[in-house]
Order: sequence, then structure tokens, then C-alpha cells
Amino acid sequence: MGAPKVMEVKIVDSLTMDHRLSSVEPSDDGLTYPYGEAVPDGVNVIKVADKIFWARIPLPWSLDHINVYLFDEGEGWTVIDTGANGKTGIETWKAFADTALAGRPIKRVIATHMHPDHLGLAGWLVEQHQAEFWTTQTEYMLASTLWNSAGTEFPQNELDYLFRSGVDRSFEPMIRAAGYGNYKKGVYALPPSYKRIEDGSEFELGGRNWRVVIGRGHSPEHACLYCLDEPLFIGGDQVLPAITSNVSVYGREPMGNPLAHWLSSLDRMKALPGSPLVLPSHGRVFFGLHARLDALIDGHLAKLGKLHEWCREPRTVVKTFRALYRRKVEGMDFYLALGEAVAHLHLLESLGLMSRSFDGDVYSFTSEGEYQLDTVLSAVNAQPGIMLRDLGDFFA
Ligand SMILES: [Zn+2]
Repeated sequence: MGAPKVMEVKIVDSLTMDHRLSSVEPSDDGLTYPYGEAVPDGVNVIKVADKIFWARIPLPWSLDHINVYLFDEGEGWTVIDTGANGKTGIETWKAFADTALAGRPIKRVIATHMHPDHLGLAGWLVEQHQAEFWTTQTEYMLASTLWNSAGTEFPQNELDYLFRSGVDRSFEPMIRAAGYGNYKKGVYALPPSYKRIEDGSEFELGGRNWRVVIGRGHSPEHACLYCLDEPLFIGGDQVLPAITSNVSVYGREPMGNPLAHWLSSLDRMKALPGSPLVLPSHGRVFFGLHARLDALIDGHLAKLGKLHEWCREPRTVVKTFRALYRRKVEGMDFYLALGEAVAHLHLLESLGLMSRSFDGDVYSFTSEGEYQLDTVLSAVNAQPGIMLRDLGDFFA
């Protein structure tokens, strides 16, 4: 890793901090946090590079914030991601208007992907500022589908997916009562049109050129942005420090293999040159992109090995939780944990390392063959439809 660039920390209302960091040491996780413990707070934002500001929108969930990035474009701003729809988010943006945004309008909203914390207020910001909205095609389409199907009867295919995974049928009334379509609760009416960005798209942002690098698995066509002029990388949820992003199979695509897409797209990003400052959607900005990519991949490969061992005897999806999760899975975490367990099982199944039987009601999974940690990733990449365009050529 090259020497971290010294960057200015400046809180816009200039209350207290203006520390210039002359030297920074890697922390225990092998990553380097150039601003130490400092994070944006309220209307206070941190300048991470010329014309680029790191801000936070509070979220009413256990993950209590999302990082958004503000790019000074002269007469206005580009913002990356928006926070979820709701009073707190709207009030935060209103407070930014005369502080961080200095009374100038937002000209463009870019969403890395379709999750409510990322584009929940895109429609509202676009409406307020007559801004453009940019995202990838699949994210826009999936957001539209989910938004428009909210409030309907709990779909039978979603129920079947849960029961076949080993969820007890006695939960059916509870599941139905919870309703379908929580997506809409966190998302303001979507912008009615968008500009498509895609893998390899290049455009200017904050006076620099950037290239879109797509990641898959957490969401279907997640946009990361790699700066071609300075060592900066907008990681979204694809590359987070400290926490890992959920990678789930959902009832709408019950035979999906999102973990293969996730691992392959992380592996591909290892070809990104240099050691950029990573601007993630949660947690603190950091140096150590390649170390983090390795750690994320290794974490899943280790879990796959454990799961393979655990399924020497047939297990339902719900019965695999013991091998995959250290703590008891409860409440809303259950659905995410289930989706992620299925994702791990499907990856092994796609490699011929897992078989399933179906007794007419519930799937049971049983390990096959030997799990070889050092060859799994290349086997994943060799599957049809998994690998995206090689980034090696891309940056040649
Ligand atoms: Zn996300």
C-alpha cells in the first residue's frame, strides 16, 4: 500500500476541528482510517478531498446512519445516495441546504443501488431541486417493481420459499399479518425517469473523471465509482469496513446464486489499481481497499467450509444457522439470515458440493465431495454468467 495522502479534515461550520493528519497507522483490522474516530455529525461534514464532502444521514434502524457524499460542482451539487424516506432524513437535508450545501441546489442525485437507505429520498431530492437522477438499469427496475408491489397480499411464492427452507408453517398467520411491501415505507415515490450508468461508464464528478465499476450479489447491479484522476473509490455497500453486506436469495428468485456474483465481483475488484481512499456507505472512510476485498472474500470462503462440514448430515436451511451465525438469530434479522444461508447453500450446490432432497414440503441439504478452500473461487469464476468483464483490460 502506498503512503496515505494527507487530507484536510474540516467541519464546515468550523466549530472545532481542522486537524491535519501527518501520519496514520493501520488499525487492528489492517485498514487505515485517516480521520481517526472523527465522523460527520448533524450538519457537520468532513472534507475528504477538494470539492468532496462526507456527510451522514441518520437512519431509524440498528444500522443508524448512511454516509452520503457531496460533490461541489460550482453552481450546484452532485450527491451520492440519499438516506431513507422519513422525517429524520428530510430534516437533515433541509438543514444541509444552508450549511453544507451553502444555499446552492442539488443538480444530480446518483444512487449506488436500490436499497431504501441509498435511494429512499432520491425522488424527494429530485422533486425539490429539479435534479437529474442517475443509477443503473437493474437497480432502477427492481426499485420500481418493489415499490409498485407494496401493500399487496403476501405472495404465495414468498411463503413457499420460507416454508421450503424449514420455517414452521404455524408462523403463516404472523407472516401474513406483517404484510408485504416494507420497501415502500423507506422509499419516497421514485424519480419518474433516470439516466442509466453501467459498468465502464465514465463521467465527471467534482471536477474529476470517474469510471463505474459494477458489483453484484448484495444488489443486482450496484455501482461503485473509481476515480481516474486521484486515488478515490466510492464503495457503496460493496466494500464496507468493519461490517459485511447481506447477500441473500429472495423468494422472487428462489434458485438464485447471489453469493457467486458477490465473490466474483469482489475478486474482480482486486484488479483495481493503486490504493485509493475508500468512501463507503457505512462506517468510516479508509485506506486498504485490497486488504478489505481479501477479508470479505476469505470470510465467506471460511463460512462455506463450515457449512460443508455441518451438512455432512442432511439439514434444512433453518438448521444451518448454527454453523453460520455466532449469535441467536431473532426478529427482523431472521429473514436476512435465512436469505444468506440459502445463498451459501446455493453456491456449494452450484459447484457440485451440495445436494438437496425434497420431501414434498421442506428441502434438506447434504454435502458432497471435498471442499477445497483454495480452488473454490476459481471454480465460482468459471461458471457461466458469473464473471463480469476483466478489469485488467479495463484499466490498461
Ligand atoms: Zn445495500
